[in-house]
Amino acid sequence: MAVHYRLRCKECGKTWDNSPRSFCEDCFSPVEVSYDYDALKKTVRREDLASREFNMWRYSELLPLSEDFAPTGAVGGTPLVASRKLASRWGLQELYFKNDAVCFPSLSFKDRVVATALAAARRFGFETVGCSSTGNLANAVAAQAAQQGFDACVFIPADLEPAKVLNTAVYGARIVRINGNYDQVNRLCSQIADRFHWGLVNVNLRPYYSEGSKTHGYEIAEQLGWRLPDNVVVPMAGGSLIGKIAKAFRELVTLGWVEAKPVKFFGAQATGCSPISDGVKRNLQRFEPQKPNTIARSLAIGNPADGPYAIKLIRESGGWAEDVSDPEIVAAIKLLAESEGIFTETAGGVTTGVTQKLIAQNRIKAHETTVVCITGNGLKTTDAIAAEYPATEAIAPRLDAFEAYLETQIGTTAPATVSAKA
Ligand SMILES: *Cc1c(COP(=O)(O)O)cnc(C)c1O
Ligand SMILES: [Zn+2]
Repeated sequence: MAVHYRLRCKECGKTWDNSPRSFCEDCFSPVEVSYDYDALKKTVRREDLASREFNMWRYSELLPLSEDFAPTGAVGGTPLVASRKLASRWGLQELYFKNDAVCFPSLSFKDRVVATALAAARRFGFETVGCSSTGNLANAVAAQAAQQGFDACVFIPADLEPAKVLNTAVYGARIVRINGNYDQVNRLCSQIADRFHWGLVNVNLRPYYSEGSKTHGYEIAEQLGWRLPDNVVVPMAGGSLIGKIAKAFRELVTLGWVEAKPVKFFGAQATGCSPISDGVKRNLQRFEPQKPNTIARSLAIGNPADGPYAIKLIRESGGWAEDVSDPEIVAAIKLLAESEGIFTETAGGVTTGVTQKLIAQNRIKAHETTVVCITGNGLKTTDAIAAEYPATEAIAPRLDAFEAYLETQIGTTAPATVSAKA
């Protein structure tokens, strides 16, 4: 497979050779991977995908991989769940949840970005990889580094959820806990990438890393039967994923794999860290950085690197951004689990809660096709909802004890009225 991409400055347009860099040396704006779509049209056709396994590598030609790249394992390929209960409760005809709570191997969409970042790390000869992380990214780096034989060193705010820290430690990664918030951790990582020859996936490998997010978008379009939705609701931390889903959809149109169609992009944040949704709602030219204070720690980035691009995309697409409070996040996690059987982490509570708000505001309409992105697994943030489910009293292993229990719980002892549905 020949290489059909280079780095390109998002502002001045200057192109740069493929290398571990995240900004343009001329104007200091971010660079991104840009492709030669005419060449790609000749390299791969949509029909070629039919015989490939359903995981993110089926879109390899559209990712920044080297010529000799060989996947070491399946990543992505998650279900698009058609909603029945919530769709009818909310009065929508077509509602889907893209469920990256079960993304392989580490149960969040960050597995996708790490997969392309480590491909770049290998190509550029790094032996040690790492990241600054709000939790999920560290899990994904640690898991895939272990599998592929990189040393891993990850940097996290000291107050992360215990499950996310454990989920990194178990893979043998070195964890550096920092007394500071994510934005301070990230600044430190920029200095470390300059000083050491390390591949920090969301710092000096950021252009390659963020391209992995596109596969979340490709899968949505393919699972809808090669068609674009009317609305997508996307959680925002650094504001990268939402832009990459848009890029994925644009590329599919450019390649002629889906019909062009206006898609509205809706951004979701937690009120306790909502610089992007605040910027959209107040119609700001530039967002105002915030100090995060929310249970949605995976989204707690107060100074989002791609915030300005996310705001622009949301506005130009005719979408909107909203945010939900911590109690609303908890309620939405429970609602999604009870109605769709999907247990999401706090970020998915944010997108679900925001979707509900957008419907109430009539910004998402009944006849439209709406996809809600669920990006991480509920087992990683059990502390956020544990207080909702106090342990029940244990009973003796006897029928009379169970009958007494039923009487105190639901006020009945008559088995006939206790149907399987009760
Ligand atoms: C990182 C993350 C996001 C958002 O990512 P950005 O691309 O930085 O906006 C969303 N959900 C979860 C669970 C994440 O870990
Ligand atoms: Zn530039």
